[in-house]
Amino acid sequence: MTEDALLEVRHLKKYFRTKKDQVVKSVDDISLAIREGETLGIVGESGSGKSTLGKTIVGINAPTSGRIIYKDQDMSSLDKQQKKLFNREMQIIFQDPHASLNPRMRIGDIVAEGIDADGSLKGRQRQDRIYELLEMVGLQPNHAKRYPHEFSGGQRQRIGIARALAVKPRFIVADEPISALDVSIQAQVINLLEDLKAKEKLTYLFIAHDLRMVKHISDRIGVMYLGKMMELASSHELFEEPLHPYTKALLSAIPIPNPKAEKKERIVLSGDPPSPINPPSGCRFRTRCPFAMDICAQKEPAWKEVRPKHWTACHLYSEH
Ligand code: SF4
Repeated sequence: MTEDALLEVRHLKKYFRTKKDQVVKSVDDISLAIREGETLGIVGESGSGKSTLGKTIVGINAPTSGRIIYKDQDMSSLDKQQKKLFNREMQIIFQDPHASLNPRMRIGDIVAEGIDADGSLKGRQRQDRIYELLEMVGLQPNHAKRYPHEFSGGQRQRIGIARALAVKPRFIVADEPISALDVSIQAQVINLLEDLKAKEKLTYLFIAHDLRMVKHISDRIGVMYLGKMMELASSHELFEEPLHPYTKALLSAIPIPNPKAEKKERIVLSGDPPSPINPPSGCRFRTRCPFAMDICAQKEPAWKEVRPKHWTACHLYSEH
């Protein structure tokens, strides 16, 4: 186990089989560690596998292969009861707060789902805990009796957060928690997540499709493309000194407030990512990379620590 890691994944793979019996390599050999109290941001275009990575880590998907180690315990070695306990400590907040809340349930019952699953609190204690959770996320106790459709998108995401907090988790996967919200509400939800992290001593895996969204909240950022990790570094270093051409392209697409003040070379990515059913040989980014060389089609670049704590997979930084 990497020193200080709350959670570590080693060579994690999650493949899906389509109806036509084709294999989709959604997560393909990812290794990373998350320190206690850290926020690790994961970014990538749609189809990069970032959400599948989060769902596999919290146990919604069974891994195809690889290891998930949480608090020094290999999840695959635990029996059903132990796994259930550990899974309670790992919760997920979903992207679409509307779809993830049962429209026929009252907010209080939605928030209490985790509590009710093990029957740990009943009657007055259960009610007090629901009120406490609603207040923690900036809602009112009297909201407990209402239904999801009576709330705005931002409030529904707060309800989703309260539900995740009900079982006192240590680790939360926030799967694009602000992507479906108005820009004006996004900052409020980010601030709430940051406050809760400090108060509840949480560790986050924060998934987003856009680097701007993760910059503010993340200590480190990993960039995924077609099921592979392309680069991983501290948030500051990734923005100031990106190494991988894909990261550089994502960063160059971010509008800068005063275009005259700062000249930024725009790297335009052509086309959409190829299908994860039949990814390109060698480097998966090579069909869109402006720096592709012959070796990029022949050999997959190794995942390498190019600078201290700054990892990337690109032949520009390896001796072939
Ligand atoms: Fe581009 Fe080659 Fe690096 Fe891939 S390995 S990102 S194709 S230079």
